[in-house]
Amino acid sequence: MERKWRFLIPLAVLPLLAAQPLPAAADAPPGRPVDPRPDTGELTRHLKAIELKSRGRVDVDAIGTSNEGRPIFGASVGKGPLRLLYVTQQHGNEPLGTPAALKLLEDLGTERTRENRAILRAVTIDIVVRANPDGHERGWRYNYDPDADPEYGEPGKGYDPNRYHDPQVAPEDNPVPESAAVRRLYDRADPDLVVDYHMQGRYVDDDGEEITASVMWPTHPDVGSEAVDLSRQAVVASAEAMDESYDGANVSLYPGGDYQGISRNAYGLLGSGSVLVELSATGPDWEQAQIASAYDSMYATAAAAADGSLFEIDPGLADELPERGEPVPSAESRPLHADGDDLD
Ligand SMILES: [Zn+2]
Repeated sequence: MERKWRFLIPLAVLPLLAAQPLPAAADAPPGRPVDPRPDTGELTRHLKAIELKSRGRVDVDAIGTSNEGRPIFGASVGKGPLRLLYVTQQHGNEPLGTPAALKLLEDLGTERTRENRAILRAVTIDIVVRANPDGHERGWRYNYDPDADPEYGEPGKGYDPNRYHDPQVAPEDNPVPESAAVRRLYDRADPDLVVDYHMQGRYVDDDGEEITASVMWPTHPDVGSEAVDLSRQAVVASAEAMDESYDGANVSLYPGGDYQGISRNAYGLLGSGSVLVELSATGPDWEQAQIASAYDSMYATAAAAADGSLFEIDPGLADELPERGEPVPSAESRPLHADGDDLD
């Protein structure tokens, strides 16, 4: 595929990449930087501008409302029979999937390249663009619900949206409006594949090289083999795209749990392929590269679904990805997840 964003690292730093955490990026990456954390107003304006500029190719709607009245946006592009559902920023303090989604919508909706047209003919992509706007505004993981006394979340603060996708809970019975909105869109779209974009802390692999993203398929034991196979094919497609996204990119498996309230498991249990992508929080100098990497995951998944190559991938290749290793020793101890980092 044609890669739209290339990030070049000065040759002098390359020897460092083999055995050490990412060095500070010496120069800003080429291309126009995007806002990594647009506020709700900016996000709204950007989505409306893309919708207008796309002349009907991108459709943006509020698919729900947060407890503080912020819109939860769903955007759709493409008219194909294969259905993909991407979700970004269920956890408010894991922002970088959201600007990647904006870039994807803008490119697919307004750039009439041959490859884009082929994708839009074959695939329909629905995207929940920032599932948790209240959490984003507060810079925290949870939604906002001062009355919450949750099993998963924090009393007086809110619920953890990515623990409230249990397939057996109907949207109208769900205490978390953000998770209910994702489920309602899921039910309407009936996607073949769901990809959920999060962020994790900083880790190295067994060779000491920094891991820049981790990926995983549904691990709940009741997920059907067809859904698991498609998930593993999509894990390989995303990992390959992200590994090639920029020099030093390094994708591992993610050590996630089996709970059915996690979207990765829930949408697998409902019969779809389902993938978790966790971008590492590699620091401000690498944010543009990480956004581009999430974009590459999104674009490559759609392109591979459109040309059928996704379904030719050997699902067993997923087992060849390295395990996630130890935390980066020098990383500041600011875990994204209050209760440990092995959490989707
Ligand atoms: Zn998360």
